[in-house]
Amino acid sequence: MTRNIPKKVREALRKEVNFGCPIDGCGSPYLSYHHFDPPWHIENHHRPEGMIALCLEHHKQADYNAFTDDQLKEFKKNPFLSSDDSIQGQINWKRENLVFLIGGNVFIGAQNIYLNKQEQLLWLTTDEQGNSLLNLDMKSEKGELIFSLRDNDWLVMSNFDNIESIPSGKKLFFENKTEDLKIDIEFNNYSKVDFQKKYAEDIPARWIEIITNKIVAEPITVCVINGHLTYPFEIRMESTGTTINGEGSEITVMGSLTLKNVKEHIMQRGLVVGSGVLIK
Ligand SMILES: [Zn+2]
Repeated sequence: MTRNIPKKVREALRKEVNFGCPIDGCGSPYLSYHHFDPPWHIENHHRPEGMIALCLEHHKQADYNAFTDDQLKEFKKNPFLSSDDSIQGQINWKRENLVFLIGGNVFIGAQNIYLNKQEQLLWLTTDEQGNSLLNLDMKSEKGELIFSLRDNDWLVMSNFDNIESIPSGKKLFFENKTEDLKIDIEFNNYSKVDFQKKYAEDIPARWIEIITNKIVAEPITVCVINGHLTYPFEIRMESTGTTINGEGSEITVMGSLTLKNVKEHIMQRGLVVGSGVLIK
């Protein structure tokens, strides 16, 4: 048995504590997994009943026996957060030159990604230090805000199915099955050589050249975003491309391309540098 905890077990442990650290006053969504009954060094196991999701700080305290087994079992039963609570966190991967790979398309120094006339859905802002920050609105069929990302601060309203935000902050996954909404955000650093190797098949060589010329300092930080938005029109972002379904709407995509009343528009592999330079 390895220390890698099966996905199903991790999911169950997060759900059990309503996706926040269960210790009184904490509620942090950046969760790790603690084996306590019995501890890992006594027996290698991944039984959910003998494990608990905790933030790193409380995980460390638990490792030093700050909590009794009975107390941990009680936290599992009565976590700090209730299922009605909203959850918030912050993305701390801030860079001046982030490479965004959004639904198979590449953005460097771009601002508006998807707009519905005046309403922005996915866009980037810049802070005082020149770092690119993420903004995203996910709304229900009725237009209620379900997930919001503002200048890297994220907020998830209640009644969702799954959220995973790992302590390193490099990954954020959110899903609401009822509303068919999903977002997956992941950050990774690469040296120029590793970046070229990693994306040799997915990104044309001349784009890689543009990117590596634009980003002078290593490492290159790549933010990959995939997911599914449904309001006010459908955007399906996958690593192979983005599909947009927007009957009755006027959509601006990638800062420059305006689509009106589209039934199904598939965008594969565009490169946007700055505002509105679209390279196909
Ligand atoms: Zn905690």
